[in-house]
Amino acid sequence: MGNKHAEERKPAKPKTPTFLLELPLVAEAGQAARVGAHLEVGRQFYNAVLSAGQQRLRRMRADPAWHAARAIPRTHKQERRAAFSALRERYGFSEYAFHELAKELRVFWLAEHLDAVLAQTLASRAYRSLNRVCVGKAKRVRFKSKGRGLSSIENKRNDTGMRFVLQTQDQGRPQGHLLWHDEKLRALIDWDDQVVAHGLAHEIKYARLVRRRASSPRAQGADSEGERYFVQLVLKGLPHHKPKHTAGSDTIGLDLGPASIAIVPRQAEANLVPLCAELRPDARAIRRLQRKMERQRRAANPEHYDERGRPKKRGKGAPRWKQSRGYQATRQRKAARERRLAAHRKSLHGRMVHEIVRVGNTIVTEKLSYRGWQKRYGRSVGRCAPGMLIDHLRRTVASTGGTLHEVPTCTTKLSQFCHGCGTFVPKPLWQRWHECPCGIGPVLRDLYSAFLTAYLDPAADFIPSCAQYVIPWEGAEARLRAAHERVIQRANEGQVLPRSMGIPRAGARLPQSRSEPTQEPVFLLRRGRLEAWKERENPRGLSPGSIQHSYSSFVMR
Ligand SMILES: [Zn+2]
Repeated sequence: MGNKHAEERKPAKPKTPTFLLELPLVAEAGQAARVGAHLEVGRQFYNAVLSAGQQRLRRMRADPAWHAARAIPRTHKQERRAAFSALRERYGFSEYAFHELAKELRVFWLAEHLDAVLAQTLASRAYRSLNRVCVGKAKRVRFKSKGRGLSSIENKRNDTGMRFVLQTQDQGRPQGHLLWHDEKLRALIDWDDQVVAHGLAHEIKYARLVRRRASSPRAQGADSEGERYFVQLVLKGLPHHKPKHTAGSDTIGLDLGPASIAIVPRQAEANLVPLCAELRPDARAIRRLQRKMERQRRAANPEHYDERGRPKKRGKGAPRWKQSRGYQATRQRKAARERRLAAHRKSLHGRMVHEIVRVGNTIVTEKLSYRGWQKRYGRSVGRCAPGMLIDHLRRTVASTGGTLHEVPTCTTKLSQFCHGCGTFVPKPLWQRWHECPCGIGPVLRDLYSAFLTAYLDPAADFIPSCAQYVIPWEGAEARLRAAHERVIQRANEGQVLPRSMGIPRAGARLPQSRSEPTQEPVFLLRRGRLEAWKERENPRGLSPGSIQHSYSSFVMR
């Protein structure tokens, strides 16, 4: 797409590596109120820029020239880019033009609350989100509502406006403060924490103020509104490297699933493990809260549902949805839970990444369409976030001097390949095993494809060939089998494994004789469903033969 600001940019400063450090802030009641007021102004300002920018975007897209530019084939790169950038210039749709817009909008009382640089960063933020709509990566932009407010604001530099300063004292350790207008918010610094000490020894590029809602106003460190404040320091340099995290030298093949990961190094032990299994209880608790919110929403808004409990169609002039106090409290608790889950997931990802990198820092994996996965396996992708894991892995591998190769699936087609006979046979999703008439297998499909990935040759453009696998397979077969046995052991210990791992939950899918009722009548009576049960007493006219048949087909599956 036409990218005007690329040429507008000054000769770019050499990019320096950056890392983040977050510190909690202590905000007294008065301070919290004043900082809250500044943030509220920031919110209104952001919405104003976003709204003006949205108008520009709409006008630009309504221009016939826009359709003409879109009609230019993608092969004519130069022409296409020129057409789009001319349009962007005409309608003022660029980061630079948004900064000009911010200057116009930052007037009167707004200016007292919002420094020019902060206004500029907010304008950039608005531009970036609108640009996502413009290039088709997002459908719409979100305005910041008054209830939720603006949750963060950042500066561009650390010498004026909002900034973080460390003050050395005569006795004791230095204290840190975030200065903004007349406020001085003290940061809680644990100097014994190596990560914190390492971070504060580096140059601060700029500071970001973050506001998060605690689970309730009584939560630790929260102000009377239930808000907590943090400062995120954007630092120049490399993050702290814990001595226990070392990098190995093996080459590793990864096969990532929506809820599992197969790790097959060339030498070390292979493994197939569920992703983020520890998050299951948290996710379940969140679902319970979601159900509670649904009940509370129904109780407060009976007029929005018909006699069968279905939500009514909403049109213009429909009554507003009411939010009870209980509903709001549940929502806040759920939000806190989600935040905790996200933090937990991040730490689990970190652990997994370090475990992988300890074995080797040359990693080959298939490039996957995470967006397609989100559509297909929404829930487990949402919980395990495999895309985030790969991003994390990429960063860590790069910081240790290794490489992460992402191989396009369309050329390798490893999930279909068999190295014994060189054929490509697509497998349906439910088939979790690779077993070929040529004598390869049975081996769990994810492990097999991770094995194939591990030995792909970058020199041969990652195209698999039979010859390259003959020797490795002899050594790997036993390792893959050992990995499979560990999976079975996990299942026997009662761990719940994702279905993609090919081992049904112990007992959960055991076939039962269908001639007997599956539930006790007493239980049904208690639920007042005895009538229903009686009606289906003789449900399926199954002859013994057909039971046998359905049983065996079940087993076959
Ligand atoms: Zn074969």
